[in-house]
Amino acid sequence: MQPPPLKNDCFALPPGVDWTPVDEALVLLRDRLTPVTAAEEAPLAEAEGRVLAADVIAPRSNPPQPNAAVDGYGFAGPAPEGVREMPLAEGRAAAGAPFRGRVPEGHALRILTGAALPEGVDTVILEEDVSREGDRIAFHGPLKRGANARRAGEDVEAGDVILRAGRRLTPPDLALLAATGCDRVALRAPLRVAVLSTGDELVEPGEIAGEDEIYDANRPMLLALLRRFGCVAVDMGRVPDDRVALRATLDRAAGQADAILTSGGASAGDEDHVSALLRETGAMQQWRIAIKPGRPLALGLWNGAPVFGLPGNPVAALVCTLVFARPALGLLAGAGWAAPQGFDVPAAFAKSKKPGRREYLRARIREGRAEVFASEGSGRISGLSWAEGLVELEDGARDIRPGDPVRFLPYASFGL
Ligand code: AMP
Ligand code: MG
Repeated sequence: MQPPPLKNDCFALPPGVDWTPVDEALVLLRDRLTPVTAAEEAPLAEAEGRVLAADVIAPRSNPPQPNAAVDGYGFAGPAPEGVREMPLAEGRAAAGAPFRGRVPEGHALRILTGAALPEGVDTVILEEDVSREGDRIAFHGPLKRGANARRAGEDVEAGDVILRAGRRLTPPDLALLAATGCDRVALRAPLRVAVLSTGDELVEPGEIAGEDEIYDANRPMLLALLRRFGCVAVDMGRVPDDRVALRATLDRAAGQADAILTSGGASAGDEDHVSALLRETGAMQQWRIAIKPGRPLALGLWNGAPVFGLPGNPVAALVCTLVFARPALGLLAGAGWAAPQGFDVPAAFAKSKKPGRREYLRARIREGRAEVFASEGSGRISGLSWAEGLVELEDGARDIRPGDPVRFLPYASFGL
């Protein structure tokens, strides 16, 4: 008897079943989740990477007063075309050591970068463009009024909204806040996210692994991802494929965290206890998302805490975390919905893609082209580590030839 032909596409979509497209799944998440973190005041030194709880209004202008943008000589501009000669006023203006008094009409004053423009000065000639003899200078015009000078408030006016609520503060944001006189800001408490791994086969790195055992690779990855997302990662350890143990761990996790990430056990099989328990609560959605790699994703609420039941395969766990959990956690954290910013680059590969699901390939850019990892196997952890981002292939069919544009999402665009 002839055996049945092997299926070479194990992700073929069963006929007549509705699969949720990635974009629809994202819209559902975006519409349903709201911030859960409280606001608190904190000093600037603790604000990096945290989320603003309120708009920030600049208490002070930047710069607070007109000042010199270069080292040179200040005078009342403009200077017309041709050679100009000027006597120097006595004294000088430096940053933090202003010239007190008025520079007389027709005179110039030695002035250094950052020095407040004294009365009678609105224009600065660059030191390199000047010849000086004793107390006289000469230079070539023309020079516009205001040249090489900074206007008060040209960067920021006092009273301007400089940063909006929901902003995750970057190091440059701290410079902006400091420069405009903010020393304390209203921040959201960091989102606390619990992580647990499920599976009888898992052991801890450092332990001796039996033949049938594998090391828990998802948990260190997920804990580190969460820290990169600005969350407080709470390690709940490993849980065997046992409903009583899992229930107890979920209870503890919900008591300590705002959200929970689990990996493994999220399908509908005998040992898929995460989805089974979430189904019992009645707040479970088994999301059949048209994505590769990544199905299944179990989403539910456990004692009020949203649970993202990620697939066990590390590649799928990472992709689902980046694509679904990250923006969702952003909303919970009060940072708003953050879509990754990708860009189109020529492919360095060929691929024929079937319609009906979105695909994410482990990829990196070399010489301006997107290379993809040699294998698409979802257990190939080495490919995750090899990659520097993902190539995102749209839901429809694609026949990609080298040089065709593909969308590259650097890991950095997911906050990594
Ligand atoms: P599951 O989703 O539980 O059916 O697991 C799918 C595959 O991922 C199986 O081969 C598991 O052994 C593997 N897996 C599950 N959890 C982990 C983990 N934490 N680290 C590494 N592999 C895992
Ligand atoms: Mg499992």
